[in-house]
Amino acid sequence: MPEAPKIPHGNSMDDYTLTEKNKKTLEFIEDVTSNPDQVQQRVLSEILTQNANVEYLNRHGFSGQTDRDTFKKLIPVITYEDLQPDITRIANGDKTPILSSHPISEFLTSSGTSGGERKLMPTIEDELDRRSLLYSLLMPVMNQFVPGLDKGKGMYFLFIKSEAKTPGGLVARPVLTSYYKSSHFKQRPYDPYTNYTSPNETILCSDSYQSMYSQMLCGLCLHNEVLRVGAVFASGFIRAIRFLEKNWTFLCHDIKTGTLNPTITDPSVREAVMRVLKPDPKLSDFIEFECSKKSWQGIITRLWPNTKYIDVIVTGTMSQYIPTLDYYGNGLPLVCTMYASSECYFGVNLNPLCKPSEVSYTLIPTMAYFEFLPVHRNNGVTSSISMPKSLNEKEQQELVDLSDVKLGQEYELVVTTYAGLYRYRVGDVLRVAGFKNKSPQFNFICRKNVALSIDSDKTDEVELHKAVENAVTHLMPFDVTLTEYTSYADTTTIPGHYVIFWELSVNNEATPVPPSVFEDCCLAIEESLNSVYRQGRASDKSIGPLEIKIVENGTFDKLMDYAISLGASINQYKTPRCVKFAPIIELLSSRVASSYFSPKCPKWVPGHKQWGNVC
Ligand code: AMP
Repeated sequence: MPEAPKIPHGNSMDDYTLTEKNKKTLEFIEDVTSNPDQVQQRVLSEILTQNANVEYLNRHGFSGQTDRDTFKKLIPVITYEDLQPDITRIANGDKTPILSSHPISEFLTSSGTSGGERKLMPTIEDELDRRSLLYSLLMPVMNQFVPGLDKGKGMYFLFIKSEAKTPGGLVARPVLTSYYKSSHFKQRPYDPYTNYTSPNETILCSDSYQSMYSQMLCGLCLHNEVLRVGAVFASGFIRAIRFLEKNWTFLCHDIKTGTLNPTITDPSVREAVMRVLKPDPKLSDFIEFECSKKSWQGIITRLWPNTKYIDVIVTGTMSQYIPTLDYYGNGLPLVCTMYASSECYFGVNLNPLCKPSEVSYTLIPTMAYFEFLPVHRNNGVTSSISMPKSLNEKEQQELVDLSDVKLGQEYELVVTTYAGLYRYRVGDVLRVAGFKNKSPQFNFICRKNVALSIDSDKTDEVELHKAVENAVTHLMPFDVTLTEYTSYADTTTIPGHYVIFWELSVNNEATPVPPSVFEDCCLAIEESLNSVYRQGRASDKSIGPLEIKIVENGTFDKLMDYAISLGASINQYKTPRCVKFAPIIELLSSRVASSYFSPKCPKWVPGHKQWGNVC
């Protein structure tokens, strides 16, 4: 993820020296990680002082106290669903201080969903400074391991997404869209670390094709200057490479002639690109030569020969993309720099060149007040962890502070933010991997309840089950019933797609199910999935059409035999509704009788279903 510039204080960037700035940043990290508890107490006290009179705190018996003990005694640990009535009031235009004494500036739409819709995270103006602060830590850290990055550019594929207005008039959009559209990003002063190949206009173009085309073109024109490449998530970077595979002939033509493809119609994008694009037949021939080779292995290092690393998140579900990135990057280091969410930006990776499997994030204690709920897994078999909806008193007392977590233990992250979330369960499970000074460093283990994910979509088993139930109604006229199903995220296609294996019981062989009916089933599943999934399919094109694979009768018995041979208990065996283990996917794939894809994109409109006024 790219770093944000530090907002210049005092004069401007004139007095700025890079070495001094880097040193100061590293000192800041040393400082806050040396006294995490003190910093956390101060942060909590600041949050409670700032919000002393908000309705939410008063409702729970607070009247201006700022100490940790009272806070823990009175304030419950909650999930989004507990907060939904308050969020709805704010979305409908209630401007009284419900959660925060500072005005809610907008809603950040999380990729986590509730009732099929994106969660709405209230935010305040000040949070942009806190996010910028976290970004500003990244390059000084990186510079310790890869010096000289100030001598060239970063080629990052960054995009904005559509936004909507709540009935009360607040903008609702993803956190990165909010950030890229802010003056913190758009009007950043010159900084060698925020020197990107993509002009702002190309990032801020809402047409994703024009945005991608123009960013790729500029990246190719400036190929020798590029020292690092990336996107936010691994899936996004791979999509960019796929785009290049499909469009390199057009891009080469533009570079050869110095003219921009007429499909790029946005005047500000055209103007910005024309500042970079010059006729360069030699470069065009070189790109053509490399792209027309049969193998695309190492295409990153071939086209951008000075690249030192690929900056993308490959922790969590994104780890499924590591082999593809290794292929295109010829083993270039994959660097995960930060851990963040719409609720709050959390932490940074202080050892960015480590292996993806060893990445740990140091939570920055000034970002929010953090608490940790111990996670007890009954066994290692389940990959998705589910949690009780609400915590009883005893469980609430189990929460520990940042400075009290234990090495090796897994915890669910709970945050209290300046923007007005109090003891809010983010939904992520982290494991303590070590310490920086006195501050813990965490491996990202998983997001609770996520069974399937390709891009930023997060589909849980319950949602998948309901979607499958809706789809099988299409089979009823044929006297066919679904006996078993399971699923997996197939990332061997670009973009990746959901695959559902179905075993059927056919009661009437005389009326076979036509292929179009199975295609309707695929679409019915997609239509039933949440808004983030449907946006990924319909708008971002970051998820491919869902596929149903019909397997031979007896396949799921074989699956059970296999699980039991691996030690599963025969009494407790339940068909997994999502599989990740390669031998199981192979077993299922070897018994596929036919397969069908969704024939079109599911419906999706920006905003929540109940809001009419899309902007
Ligand atoms: P969103 O609310 O849509 O911004 O998504 C935030 C979520 O993305 C987090 O709560 C995590 O589940 C996931 N996420 C963010 N950063 C990382 C990371 N570095 N590694 C793994 N997952 C991440």
